[in-house]
Amino acid sequence: MEGFEERLSHTLAGLKQVFRSRKTRGIDWRVAQLRGLLKFIAENEDGIFEALKEDLGKHSVEAYRDEIGIVKKSADHALLHIKKWMAPKKGQLPLLLFPSRAEVLPEPLGIVLIFGSWNFPISLTLDPLIGAISAGNTVVIKPSELAPACSSLLCRTIPYYLDSEAIKIIEGGCDVAEQLLQLQWDKIFFTGSPRVGRIVMSAAAKHLTPVTLELGGKCPVILDSYSGSDFKVAVKRIAGGKWGPCAGQACIGIDYVLVQHNFAPLLVESLKHCIKRFYGESVKSLQSICRIVNKFHFDRVRKLLEEPGVAASIFYGGSLDEENLMIEPTILLDPPLDAQIMTEEIFGPLLPIVTLDAIEESIDFINARPKPLAIYAFTKNKKLKDRILQETSSGSVTFNDAMIQFICDSLPFGGVGQSGFGRYHGKYSFDTFSHEKAVLHRSFFPELEPRYPPWNDFKLEF
Ligand code: NAD
Repeated sequence: MEGFEERLSHTLAGLKQVFRSRKTRGIDWRVAQLRGLLKFIAENEDGIFEALKEDLGKHSVEAYRDEIGIVKKSADHALLHIKKWMAPKKGQLPLLLFPSRAEVLPEPLGIVLIFGSWNFPISLTLDPLIGAISAGNTVVIKPSELAPACSSLLCRTIPYYLDSEAIKIIEGGCDVAEQLLQLQWDKIFFTGSPRVGRIVMSAAAKHLTPVTLELGGKCPVILDSYSGSDFKVAVKRIAGGKWGPCAGQACIGIDYVLVQHNFAPLLVESLKHCIKRFYGESVKSLQSICRIVNKFHFDRVRKLLEEPGVAASIFYGGSLDEENLMIEPTILLDPPLDAQIMTEEIFGPLLPIVTLDAIEESIDFINARPKPLAIYAFTKNKKLKDRILQETSSGSVTFNDAMIQFICDSLPFGGVGQSGFGRYHGKYSFDTFSHEKAVLHRSFFPELEPRYPPWNDFKLEF
């Protein structure tokens, strides 16, 4: 019987052969795969809902919005634009090269490895895949082992819809990931923690494989002092952005809020009312909110609350239901800044509110920490907006909303510094999985002799 390692190298050899056969390069193949993905989504909606419920307790409405809807949108967008994306782009040339023609020709990279993540186990696995197949690559996907129902659904079902010679799904945990990383890929696309991001990058360095690292970090909200209906909208958007997508287990989820002292009491009261309206009043009867993915992460979030000084800062919530892995949406007011809740990515339903003397101080506060994946700023103050854009660095900045930048195909999605590098979504996904080949077409006439030796002063003047 063949061992796992041997099976892996056979899989890779098979994919190489398929890639060399050039079948993945044609537009027909790419379109067929994108349509196959849409068919998979359409025919397996109930199965996807069930798997997401099993893995994360995700409600079908949330599952549709954050998983199924995302994949449909991205595949539709790719189908609409793929012809244009694949076309060579004309390049400008210096007069010296006249008459010539320059073009930039996108070519697929080859065999790519995609690591999916568990918090959005359908969309964050299939969204990068859309980029990889649009660009004409053969692909190995490793879904996250922490969302086993979704991983198994993808592994069992996708082969019926996509070209199973060119697109393979390999399930497994850390050990399988480690073995995959030993192999030589043409690109690795990783979604996960900075810790494993480093492991991926050092494995890739051995083969000089390019990587895209979609990592995490602490995404702040800067909340200017609002009043009236704008304030009500801001509070709903903060609550929806914090506890809505996967109960705060989201890379671009809100980690903490920066606000002026005098404004904090109104904010925490309003957030409390919003929580009760959206999710219910007790940890035993929470609704419309995901559970924590597993016991390990439940304990990790619990420990954040147990650190000295943190419990005393809980303004609302803080109850845990270990049996059902539920943690109540929790608001903390000014927890100690050196506690882990303020130094580590929370990745759960806890929301620290940090008060400042003046909202402008938020810029120094953010700059004193690793560059976030996203900054959210609720303000109408043009000067403050400009300062945030000019003086901070982050993967993205969204004014007056949270999370929704993810659905904009025209915007690159990705981090900077510790929050990762590389970008995807829309055309950026296609580019991420393509090589832009520079092509120069020359004519034989005219021939400029001064370019050739022997050198003399006359040629210098020329
Ligand atoms: P993780 O880094 O622990 O695991 C991700 C993957 O790495 C898993 O598939 C796992 O099999 C593999 N892995 C784990 N240990 C490994 C090892 N020692 N060697 C090789 N592979 C290994 O990530 P996680 O905890 O599952 O996810 C949470 C993190 O992901 C957070 O930091 C979050 O911000 C980030 N994230 C980022 C995005 C984004 O788009 N930027 C999206 C979702 C999550």
